[in-house]
Amino acid sequence: MTDVIHLLPDHVANQIAAGEVVQRPASVIKELLENSIDAGATRISVVIKDAGKTLIQVVDDGQGMSPSDARVCFERHATSKIKTADDLFRLQTKGFRGEALASIAAIAHVELKTRREQDQVGTSVKIEGSEVVSQEPCVAPKGTSISVKNLFYNIPARRNFLKSDSVETRHLIDEFQRVALAHPAIHFTFTHNGTEFFQLPATNYRQRIVGIFGGKTNEKLVPVKEDTEIVKIHGFVGKPEFAKRSRGEQFFFVNDRFIKSPYLHHAVTAAFEGLLKDKAHPSYFIYLSIDPKSIDINIHPTKTEVKFDDEQALYSILRSTIKHSLGQFSVAPVLDFDRDASFDTPYSFKDKPIEAPKIEVDRNFNPFDQETRPSSYSSSGYRKEPRAGEWEGLYTGLQEHQFDTAVSQLDQVEFESEQDAAKLFEDETQEHLENSIFQLNRKFIVSSLKTGLLVIDQHRAHVRILYEELLKNITVSAAVSQQLLFPLELSFSHREMELLAEARESLEQAGFIFSTMEAGNVQISGIPTPLSESEVPALLHQLLADLENEVPDTGFAYTDTLAKSLAEGMAVKAGVRLSTAEQQNLLNALFACKESSVTPNNKPIFITLSVDEIDKKFI
Ligand code: ADP
Ligand code: MG
Repeated sequence: MTDVIHLLPDHVANQIAAGEVVQRPASVIKELLENSIDAGATRISVVIKDAGKTLIQVVDDGQGMSPSDARVCFERHATSKIKTADDLFRLQTKGFRGEALASIAAIAHVELKTRREQDQVGTSVKIEGSEVVSQEPCVAPKGTSISVKNLFYNIPARRNFLKSDSVETRHLIDEFQRVALAHPAIHFTFTHNGTEFFQLPATNYRQRIVGIFGGKTNEKLVPVKEDTEIVKIHGFVGKPEFAKRSRGEQFFFVNDRFIKSPYLHHAVTAAFEGLLKDKAHPSYFIYLSIDPKSIDINIHPTKTEVKFDDEQALYSILRSTIKHSLGQFSVAPVLDFDRDASFDTPYSFKDKPIEAPKIEVDRNFNPFDQETRPSSYSSSGYRKEPRAGEWEGLYTGLQEHQFDTAVSQLDQVEFESEQDAAKLFEDETQEHLENSIFQLNRKFIVSSLKTGLLVIDQHRAHVRILYEELLKNITVSAAVSQQLLFPLELSFSHREMELLAEARESLEQAGFIFSTMEAGNVQISGIPTPLSESEVPALLHQLLADLENEVPDTGFAYTDTLAKSLAEGMAVKAGVRLSTAEQQNLLNALFACKESSVTPNNKPIFITLSVDEIDKKFI
């Protein structure tokens, strides 16, 4: 029998290795940027076309390469950064494996132009699927330019696996930001399809953060600093009151390299303990300098995980440093979220003279006077008139025939029908119906059924109603907007602007009117009718956080996430008093929904309590 084992040809081996290094366009930009930094660049420009699917180009003014290095750099394990295994323990560079360029060249069309300061002419190399197509002298400025075109052109399965342009662009921006945040002394630009996304001149750390996340970030930052033998820490944490629901702005850098560390993240959150609102995440930009000997960055191929020798010490140092900063900038003691605002006495009340409470008596009230009873009820102030104006808007679009379905569905849950009521209280039909519904704890709507009680969670019910309405609006017919007297101005980070631009059309269908949307600024001149103006900023930020966390692709999943998030934000909260008419409307609209029993997130909307169950409690 002949031998069956043979060595794989280089281009196949490279393609396989590429799978480890290059998952998506963002991996390419990361490797190229790191190479430019290792080459001592002071200016780096990134040019992207079609989310990196067509072109990713990185141009630097670094040390460049000699003509022969320009060819060799595409070989596997070709590196100028380490010579022996021992070098691994004193790494000062980002790269060291010598794999990136070989991998990228195996799965794309790559063009390299490079020139060292001391050379008269530069070198141009073209390489496609690991095959060198040409190498020739060329005119080139000092430094290196690498263009990566048609990524995964020879691995269609991989190419098809790429997400939508907006998702891939987001990943590209993420990687870019991580590198740019770690190197404020380098001038960076980032252009996508001809639009300049970032222009970041050389500066300090604080200004770099502001340059990336927008002007308003500055006031939100609290500086952090500590020097110990084990670690030097500097950077910023976001003030607790600005903490958002999205995890977006959380960055650790170790020796100028972005890393992920759930353990250190925990140390930061521990420092914020008691200062954050429910579900809010603190933002942080923490830079650690540690002796390269006491860390191992080699444990993950994409190098975002690090192993520290003395993790526990690092944890406590980090936590106490941040605690100290928060205390020093007197952020900590001011906040007390547990306090119930309703217990606060307004200052103006303190100085008022004490008066005996007045009792208002409705002298015309006659409990036996059937005719006048309803009106005397309201005139004596027992019950406010329903605030129709505010709530009517919620159910615009609820047509007559929908009401019919509502009624028929109500029958299914054995709702007490008008007829039955009529039999029992011939002359009080109307009133009986009204009394059969009430609000409990400003949270639940309780209604009587033929055979028991129905208890509806008002918030969840409204979420379901709005969700179905929004889905319809976004996909079929646009919703009605309310025009704002003065347009609302909001500012967003670059990343958020991306997400917003993507969601714009759907949001407009849902009732938003955007008058401008550019360079981090958004003007809103119309909003969906059920929404009040003050709720808009929180709603949009939450929406963007949801869209970001879910990373939904286009199509239904996207619309669904959008509708869910908007419905959650717009729905009436627990704690809001509803008039009887509002309760009734909510109930009708709920049972007119395609699905009335669970929220879009599959949580129960109502429970029923049968007479039997109630009977049992009396045993
Ligand atoms: P590594 O960065 O791990 O050494 P790469 O495959 O990324 O491996 O790069 C191989 C070599 O090519 C580097 O070691 C470096 O000498 C050279 N090189 C790559 N990019 C540049 C650049 N932008 N400027 C100068 N030299 C570069
Ligand atoms: Mg490299």
